[in-house]
Amino acid sequence: MKIKAINGFKDILPDAALRWQHIEQTARDIFERFGMREIRMPILEKTELFSRSIGEATDIVEKEMYSFSDKGITMRPEATASLLRAFIEHGLHVQQPVQRLYTIGPMFRHERPQKGRLRQFHQMDVEIIGATEPQVDAELMAMGQMLLNSLGLKVSLEVNSLGCPDCRPGFRTQLIEYLEERKDDLCEDCRRRLSTNPLRTLDCKSRGCKALVKDAPSILKSLCNACNEHFAEVEHTLGLLGVTYSKNRFMVRGLDYYTRTTFEFITGDLGAQAAVGAGGRYDGLIEQLGGPKLPGIGFAMGMERIALLMEQQVENGIHKPSADIFVAALGAKASEYGCVLVQNLRSLKLKAAMDYSGRSLKAQMKQAGRINSRFTLIIGDNELAEEKAVLRNMQTQEQVDFPLNGTGVEQAQRLADYTESSQG
Ligand SMILES: [Zn+2]
Ligand SMILES: [Zn+2]
Repeated sequence: MKIKAINGFKDILPDAALRWQHIEQTARDIFERFGMREIRMPILEKTELFSRSIGEATDIVEKEMYSFSDKGITMRPEATASLLRAFIEHGLHVQQPVQRLYTIGPMFRHERPQKGRLRQFHQMDVEIIGATEPQVDAELMAMGQMLLNSLGLKVSLEVNSLGCPDCRPGFRTQLIEYLEERKDDLCEDCRRRLSTNPLRTLDCKSRGCKALVKDAPSILKSLCNACNEHFAEVEHTLGLLGVTYSKNRFMVRGLDYYTRTTFEFITGDLGAQAAVGAGGRYDGLIEQLGGPKLPGIGFAMGMERIALLMEQQVENGIHKPSADIFVAALGAKASEYGCVLVQNLRSLKLKAAMDYSGRSLKAQMKQAGRINSRFTLIIGDNELAEEKAVLRNMQTQEQVDFPLNGTGVEQAQRLADYTESSQG
């Protein structure tokens, strides 16, 4: 009986992995331009870390976490809590008051697998800790947009403010009053959320709730002066940086810890409107987790969704890497010679390959084509005795005699020099 992968868990096969590598390399390059440094955390954390940060009454903590309840540990459902735990534990702020950090890796949530949504999914997560300035919020969004644009993706940015502990409770009360009067028209989830997490009603996907919240009070009209000023400055800076965006007062994000600025990068190309990246400010969270009183802001981007979007929007964006030299050896001696030559070529940083099967020249040339090799070196036992081989430029089909003089690094270097100076 064949054993298959678990439902909601997926292999990333080599062709797809090429795209993933491209996304990761582009992200690392851009993150580092913005002064971000990589941090890697373990996948397992204490369950309490997530219930205290994400919030007890959130979908994630209520029903989506993979927890080992007998051990009190959970497979991380998102990166921010783990990253902040590490930040606090190692006192990173002592070395450098403003920390710019990023991490890339798998997250785990037990939810219904649907298009682009898996139980093991991957995120690129960035956080700036220790800065309250609204310019930082704008800078972070500009970075996200630069990354998506660099990948060739067309995605729109939506921005909102969720206020602060001074002004949000007032809005919450107003919203509950509004919703209580229309309680019968709410979906079952939202009726339950009314007492635990009423803001979630604003981004409920049910058609009835959507229609109902259209006329609900706007959080942007409930902001205190400080939050208002902050949001105005975020908008001003986005304008200066040439970042196009729209305001969306219904965006609340699923997590409890957000304060003030929240944002999402949205696409309509993955079926329904979907976020490929989202984040926001969380000024009270670090203290809430037992750390110093420091502000923070960050976002996470979903690798699966970005990869899927790239398939749709930039199909030919990624070229398969090619080999530099394929050694086609005919005969036992030639094969032995090729084996050592390939090793020496690789130590000179060339991508070299050969086939040990002793198949026909035709079959080996086919293999060279399949791996997209720039050159093929054809060696037979006779040629070896005459100390020469045939070097074929796979693109131009041109062939030259290439002198062989031992298998050593010097011979490999001559080949490397030749292939480097030739088009192919
Ligand atoms: Zn406020
Ligand atoms: Zn609803």
